[in-house]
Amino acid sequence: MRVTAIQQDLNQTLRGEAVLGESLADFTTWRVGGPAARLYKPADLDDVRCFLRTLPVGEPLFWLGLGSNVLISDQGFTGTVILTQGRLTDLVLTKEASIRVEAGVSCAKMARFCARNQLSGGEFWAGIPGTMGGALRMNAGCFDGETWDRVVSVETITRSGEIRHRYPSEFQVSYRTVDGLGVDEWFVAAHCRLTPGSQAESMEKIKALLARRAATQPTGEYNCGSVFRNPPHGFAAQLIEACGLKGQRIGGAVVSPKHANFIVNEAGQASARDIQALIQYVADEVYRKHQVQLHREVHFFGDGYV
Ligand SMILES: Cc1cc2nc3c(=O)[nH]c(=O)nc-3n(C[C@H](O)[C@H](O)[C@H](O)COP(=O)(O)OP(=O)(O)OC[C@H]3O[C@@H](n4cnc5c(N)ncnc54)[C@H](O)[C@@H]3O)c2cc1C
Repeated sequence: MRVTAIQQDLNQTLRGEAVLGESLADFTTWRVGGPAARLYKPADLDDVRCFLRTLPVGEPLFWLGLGSNVLISDQGFTGTVILTQGRLTDLVLTKEASIRVEAGVSCAKMARFCARNQLSGGEFWAGIPGTMGGALRMNAGCFDGETWDRVVSVETITRSGEIRHRYPSEFQVSYRTVDGLGVDEWFVAAHCRLTPGSQAESMEKIKALLARRAATQPTGEYNCGSVFRNPPHGFAAQLIEACGLKGQRIGGAVVSPKHANFIVNEAGQASARDIQALIQYVADEVYRKHQVQLHREVHFFGDGYV
């Protein structure tokens, strides 16, 4: 009944694309996960606002970017997923050295846009295979930069479709985590400030960064980047490797022989259950051998997770 009501509204007033029962696996870099009861691909920001207003009170809702930091359960999700990848893609230079970027723009595109506009400081985004919305939520970063170091303000949307302008001082931003969003509030855009630079130098930096990643990470395989956050004063990968866990497998999930903090879905044969079991096994082994409790960077979502 609820589905019918939403469908009617979608057909009459909305411009995005709604799909029922679509598998979410293809929208994640791990390529696992069951179906979403409803998946909505908005046409643009105005369209998301309208869509949110059509949702019944209490409808479970999840925002998915490029799915490069989530483990979606095999059961999927009996709620609605808003998919931003390839949507919410406005990207403009607002004034000298400042950019407004919407949540669905890929981090790689943002990095190249900064470089083309002779702006330095955005190169690190080139190596992050997510959206800018996901990067805001995770405070994504690497080598010499983190997302929130460049943020001047953000635009968020609430479940009632209200757009808010908010500032970094209103959030608690730390290593790979950001608190301060309301329960029913999501990022739709960021205003970032960079520094004047040279296109050639930025492109060179991006090339070097991507080469370094290809040499040290299993970039050609299905994975989700670093599974665990680095503990204070150490590296998760070193602790895992010291336990002899490289190559450890459960079903189709394998601890990457190239980078111990990566778990790969070998030949696409793993289930979310395999990956979850391997994550737990690795954390338990590291605790048993080093007495260090690793914490997940990857978010779990879907039915069956608490
Ligand atoms: C090969 C590889 C390398 C990686 N290297 C790095 C790295 O160097 N540094 C790093 O930080 N990360 C890295 N990652 C992890 C990942 O790319 C980042 O965390 C990225 O920011 C996630 O963006 P996403 O769009 O894929 O988010 P998703 O995986 O789609 O979502 C992640 C979380 O963000 C939430 N979210 C998504 N969009 C929004 C929104 N608009 N508003 C509010 N919440 C939202 C989701 O609900 C979910 O909880 C890597 C991943 C891979 C696969």
